[in-house]
Amino acid sequence: MPVLVMKFGGTSVATVDKIRRAAKKVGVEVAKGYDVIVIVSAMSGETNKLVGFVNDTSPLYDAREYDAIVSSGENVTAGLMALTLQEMDVPARSWQGWQVPVQTTSAHANARIEEIPTENITAKFGEGMKVAVVAGFQGISPEGRITTLGRGGSDTTAVAFAAAFDAERCDIYTDVDGVYTTDPRVTDKARKLDKIAFEEMLELASLGAKVLQTRSVELAMRYKVRLRVLSSFEEQSDEAGTLVCAEEEIMESNVVAGVAFSRDEAKMTLISVADRPGIAAAIFGPLAEAGVNVDMIVQNISEEGRTDMTFSCPIDQVARAEKAMAEAKAKDEINFHDLVADTDVAKVSIVGIGMRSHAGVAAKMFATLRDEGVNIKVITTSEIKTSVLIDRKYMELAVQSLHDAFELEKVA
Ligand code: ADP
Ligand code: ASP
Ligand code: MG
Repeated sequence: MPVLVMKFGGTSVATVDKIRRAAKKVGVEVAKGYDVIVIVSAMSGETNKLVGFVNDTSPLYDAREYDAIVSSGENVTAGLMALTLQEMDVPARSWQGWQVPVQTTSAHANARIEEIPTENITAKFGEGMKVAVVAGFQGISPEGRITTLGRGGSDTTAVAFAAAFDAERCDIYTDVDGVYTTDPRVTDKARKLDKIAFEEMLELASLGAKVLQTRSVELAMRYKVRLRVLSSFEEQSDEAGTLVCAEEEIMESNVVAGVAFSRDEAKMTLISVADRPGIAAAIFGPLAEAGVNVDMIVQNISEEGRTDMTFSCPIDQVARAEKAMAEAKAKDEINFHDLVADTDVAKVSIVGIGMRSHAGVAAKMFATLRDEGVNIKVITTSEIKTSVLIDRKYMELAVQSLHDAFELEKVA
């Protein structure tokens, strides 16, 4: 039998009633003749609640226990989904990550899937089971401890299962009916895309569009998984949603495919560091060791052998970055006058494969922000994206005006 992977996010399994609606969609695919692997998230809000319990108990928590706790939300929905399907006379069983087992690295709270053995589930399909319901977001480390895959990780579980089982498609059911030119919560001019290229989706996801976890797109691209994003609240059809696919499958596209943003950024500036060979390594080495995800980096011009170094990182890593820099200073590896953290910034990015072959796209972005009176603090570019760091209070305005300026509401 062909295998189909269907993933239901938190809002799609938020109540017993919604689980029933999702289960009906699974039933439709079973009736078409598929063996279905259903990946479920925790009920919406549940993971945040569990993370809150952890922080309240132990602010500098042991990540192994964090994983033991926050993975539990998915266990509940996996069991409930299996029970709901059984009530509909669909033969179904639930699996927690360790039972499959979903083998991951031991990087707790941010583990990577290494392997998914298919034997157990395939054998059950052979015995007449029609649906394997798997708890998303979780796995087991080589040491035998429960791991989680980072926030939004059920998307990655889904794509990894689709790759392992050579599924015909991986359908991601969520609370929007596809991937839009930007988050539809920020502008009602956002337009649903029928198709988007893997590379563009990868950039949008990594720049803040949380509709898919970045690693899920990476995996889909590597293993050529047909990945579709669609609504769990609307009628199903074979053309519904957005297909994330190879660039070659897309005939027409805008120069800019979408606008992404991330409000959880911080801008850190080391004031007056020695401008000497090895200074960047001396700063960013300890930051990397401390697990700080540095994104943008700017080194200012130097005066009398000293310079300022600015970098951005996620806002919840500011304390860790400060600690790493203070320790490096105490060990005399670096010397700086001050470390200034600006936690009122946001990153806004434009993404599009067309930027490879069109000049002036970044310039148009900067002119648009200038016309709105938005000051740019840091800029980074790559082949298919330009990102700026701006004051957070202008984030929505920037997204809306860029969406207008690049006419993203119109089809190319
Ligand atoms: P789930 O719980 O189903 O995994 P998420 O909340 O993780 O859902 O992701 C869906 C949300 O992603 C949408 O509600 C939307 O607000 C947000 N989003 C951000 N950028 C985009 C985009 N470009 N297209 C669609 N949704 C987006
Ligand atoms: N429940 C997890 C989270 O909220 C994983 C997921 O929903 O994808 O991050
Ligand atoms: Mg999600």
